[in-house]
Order: sequence, then structure tokens, then C-alpha cells
Amino acid sequence: MKNGNAGQRVDLVVVGAGFGGLYAVYKFREMGLRIAAFEAGGDVGGVWYWNRYPGARVDLPSIDYSYSFSPEVEQEWTWSEEFASQPELLAYFNFVADRLDLRKHYQFNTRVTRAVWDEVRKLWKVTTDRGETIEATYCVMATGPLSIPRDPEIPGIDSYKGQLLRAGKWPHHPVDFTGKRVGVIGTGSTGIQIVQEVGRQADELFVFQRTPSFTMPMRNQKLDPDYVADVKRNYAGIREAARNSPNGGVRPWTTRAFFSVTPSRRRELLEDAWKSGGLTMLGTFTDLLSNEEANEHVAEFVRGKIDGVVTDSVTAEKLKPRGYPIFARRPCLDTGYYETFNQPNVRLIDCVTDPIVEITEHGVRTQSGETELDMLIFATGYDGLTGALTAFDVVGRNGCTVNEKWKEGARSYLGLMMEGFPNLFMTTGPNGPAALANIVRISENDVDWIANAITHMADHGLDTIEPTRKAEDDWMALVLKLAQRSLLSKAKTWYVGTNVKDKAQGLTLFTGGFPRYREYCAAAIQNGYRDFVFERGRKPVAAA
Ligand code: NAP
Repeated sequence: MKNGNAGQRVDLVVVGAGFGGLYAVYKFREMGLRIAAFEAGGDVGGVWYWNRYPGARVDLPSIDYSYSFSPEVEQEWTWSEEFASQPELLAYFNFVADRLDLRKHYQFNTRVTRAVWDEVRKLWKVTTDRGETIEATYCVMATGPLSIPRDPEIPGIDSYKGQLLRAGKWPHHPVDFTGKRVGVIGTGSTGIQIVQEVGRQADELFVFQRTPSFTMPMRNQKLDPDYVADVKRNYAGIREAARNSPNGGVRPWTTRAFFSVTPSRRRELLEDAWKSGGLTMLGTFTDLLSNEEANEHVAEFVRGKIDGVVTDSVTAEKLKPRGYPIFARRPCLDTGYYETFNQPNVRLIDCVTDPIVEITEHGVRTQSGETELDMLIFATGYDGLTGALTAFDVVGRNGCTVNEKWKEGARSYLGLMMEGFPNLFMTTGPNGPAALANIVRISENDVDWIANAITHMADHGLDTIEPTRKAEDDWMALVLKLAQRSLLSKAKTWYVGTNVKDKAQGLTLFTGGFPRYREYCAAAIQNGYRDFVFERGRKPVAAA
């Protein structure tokens, strides 16, 4: 492990070694900038470094969920499965880091604890948990939307004497569940993946479910080598198609509204989507996130599928999500999740009718009694979108912190920059399409945008860049206007911040689709950076 950044003056600090961070390090190094990069984890991989729980797997096709910026990486790396498992994803990160020689720029096992804008010297002072401070002209927060896992707000966690496991901080050694009584709290994407895996191994599995999720069959498969060879020949076109699709991937999309076709044709299309697997269903009709009635038809179709699988009708009923639109919570993909509940060793505990009261020395106490457990797994989610930047002090102009700025909710211009925080950039920020489109495509878009801004500044001898208050206000007005049209705000999720106590609530993600987001990003450059204020020395200067 390298530890050579202390006391340095660099051009640019990068925080994070996930998709955004690694590409940022590559891009800015190729531009000739001096870089110092920090990562709290012990190695590259971001969320895939931490999430080593059994069954962890990406829910976008691996081909899509990979970098497009390096033809070498595209040609030399070969995906083995349609939806890659965590070990394969981590191997990919390591391959990229080695192939492009990125690791040497990183200091791992190092958490940034403070970043302060020095108004006089026009630079960022970045402090780490090792007590070192580094100075940088620019700071790129590639901290990701899902990097701060959270424990459930249940009393007594510390009193538990069994083995407590957290999905987002999973041990690096294999965990054996054989012969054990295991409990899982949380039934989002993570919990579902864990349940279907641990259910096969544990002696007994107790699933503590508060809100059921809609989940659809992943139908993962090994990739045929001929198909992969074909993909490698056509990567350029595939990437271009992905960049122009609303979700930033090549998942099927349509121009067909739900009620534009007959009921029998709808049923046929939904059955086809169910058989085809993955997130096909979301792309089968255009209006599933805007037309409540259409949405409910699809939700009822999925509820019907639960009846078709789960033999015990009481359990089936409890597993059926109700009271929020399908796809408003991140849709989950599974491999036999509902079937798991037909196993005699698996029990569903409905925490709505039988709420968790406390965690005890021996297990979990719900209103109806105590369940003793050898192992307890938390799959209770993240302080999403904003958590990484509010977890430490990021101090901009006039001593204002990001925490203060985001007290009423995250705000920025394009999810890339904030007024009052000069020369500070975010990738996959909370007011871009972050969780709603392919994070790899967004990361590449964002890093390229930042590179353009830095090049522009170098070309014009500018010292600082910062969006105007008006640009930020206008962007947030657009974000909120679009959000009001979307059903995404109608569920309690990490998208809207309801999963974290006292967090500002509301949908601040850009819901206009990835191509439109890219257009706004491009326009902010093409219009001569008129939405930004620049300084040369201490003086504000016109953009171009
Ligand atoms: P999540 O979707 O936020 O789910 C957290 C779960 O914990 C919810 O079921 C929640 O119930 C439950 N929970 C929290 N506190 C609780 C309490 N006190 N008592 C009972 N239940 C409690 O988190 P996640 O599953 O980690 O997923 C987060 C995101 O990660 C996903 O949306 C997805 O974007 C990403 N992810 C992706 C993949 C993939 O690519 N396949 C896999 C895993 C995760 P309530 O809803 O009732 O609060």
C-alpha cells in the first residue's frame, strides 16, 4: 500500500476508487495533471469492494456496466455472464487498475475527513484520517451514490451476542451458514440477493420484511463466446446506442404507451418481458413511471406471478407489494427469490403486522416474541445520493459546509458543481440521473465534462470556476418540475431520502433521461460557460 500523498501540493485530488474515481484518475493523468487519490477501502472497486455478501450481482448487463473509454480494456476483458457476480466485477476493477496503471496514484485505507476551500490561496485543503493534509487546485468527489451503509434504527444492536453481518461491509473471508439459524433484516435489492442464497445453506432462515419489493426474474446466463466476440467487434455502436438511451444502456426501450394496445396484447407483452428477464418490463411501455393506472396494471401482473410461485397463500399475500407504484423503488432482479419461501427452512416475518421491537442478546424481538439467531444480517440500505458528502466536512466559501447547503435537500448545477464551492466537482452527483441510469455511462460523461472545464480554464488562464446561483436555481427548478411528473416520488425510498431519519425528503434526481442530461451538460459548455463565474487572481472574469 502506498502512502506518499502527505504534504503534497497537487493539481487535483480524487476521492473514491469506484467507476467515477478510476476514470477520473486515468483521464486527468493523461491530461498531465498531478493527482493524489484517496480511497477508504483497501483497494479499487467502490461499492463492489465492500459488498461481498453471498449472491451479490449487478442488475444491469455486464456488457453495459463497463467502461467505454478504453478500447484496450474493452477488447482485453471478457465478461463471462450476462449479469456479473461481485467477484467478477471486482476482478474487472483490478484488471482496469492494472492495465492502465492506476493503482499507484491511490492511497488506500484512507478516508478523507475534511476538505476546506482556501479563499486566499484559491485551493482545496484536503485532510485524511491519517492526519495528513494535501493541497489541490481541484477536488473531484467520486464518492458514489451508495457508499454510506446504514444500520437499522432498532434499539439493542450492541447487545447482540451472535454474529452480526452487514451487507455493505461484508467480511473478506467466506461465511458458512450451514447448521445456523440466520436472520436477515431488509428486503431491498441486497436483502433479496442474500435471502435466495442463504436460504439454500442455512438450517433456518428468518426474513424480516417491512416493505416487500417488486422483484422480477434476472434469468442470468453464461455469455456465448460468439456473442462476446460480436460485441467486441461492435462496441463503438453499442456504446453510442447506450449513450442515447434513457437508461444509459442497451436494454430494450419502446415508444408504446400502455393503453395504446389491447388488453390481450399488453398481457402478451408483459409475459414476454417476464420470460425475457432482467429489467425488460420497465422498457416495455413508455408510461410506467408516469401513468398511475398503467403502473397498477403491471404491479398486479407481478403480484399474480407471486401467487403462481409461492404455495402458501398467506405468505404469498405478505410478499405482495402494495401501496406504492412498481418501479418507484428500484426494481429488483432475482434468481428464485419467491421460490425460497416454499422451502421448509425459510420463514417470512412481516414487520408491518409484527414490528421489530428490539435486538436482544440472542436475536430479534418482534411484538409477538423473540426469534433466537446464530447470525443476523443487516441489508438495511444506504444514506444514498448525498451521504458520502455529508459524512464529513466539505467547507466552501464563507465557511459554508455541504451539510448546511443541503439542509433542505441536495442542490447543485447538473449534479456536477455547487455554487459556493469553487473548483469542486462531483461525479454521479445527487441532482443528475445518478440512480436512474447506468452509473458507468454517467461517470464517464461527468469526468469528461470536468476535463473540458479544466481544459477551458487552463486555456484561458482562469483560477476558479463555480456555477452561478441562477444556474443552480434554474437547474433545481427543472429537476423538481420533472420529478413532479414522475411516480418515483410516490414510494418511500433512498431515492427520496425517507430511509434516513431527519434527512431532507424529496426527489432531487434528474428524471429526464440520460440523453437529455447529456444535452444539458453539453449545452453548459457550448454556450461558452455562461452559467459559471470564473476568477483570475482575485477578479471575476467573463467565461470565454
Ligand atoms: P434498500 O433498497 O434501501 O433496502 C433496505 C431494506 O431495509 C428495506 O427493505 C427496508 O425496509 C429495510 N429496513 C431498513 N430499516 C429497517 C428496520 N428498522 N426494520 C425493518 N426493515 C428495515 O437498500 P439495498 O437493498 O441495499 O439497496 C440499495 C440500492 O443498492 C438498490 O436500490 C440498488 O440500486 C443497489 N443494489 C443493486 C444491486 C444490484 O445491482 N443487483 C444489488 C444490491 C443493491 P423499508 O423499505 O420498509 O424501510
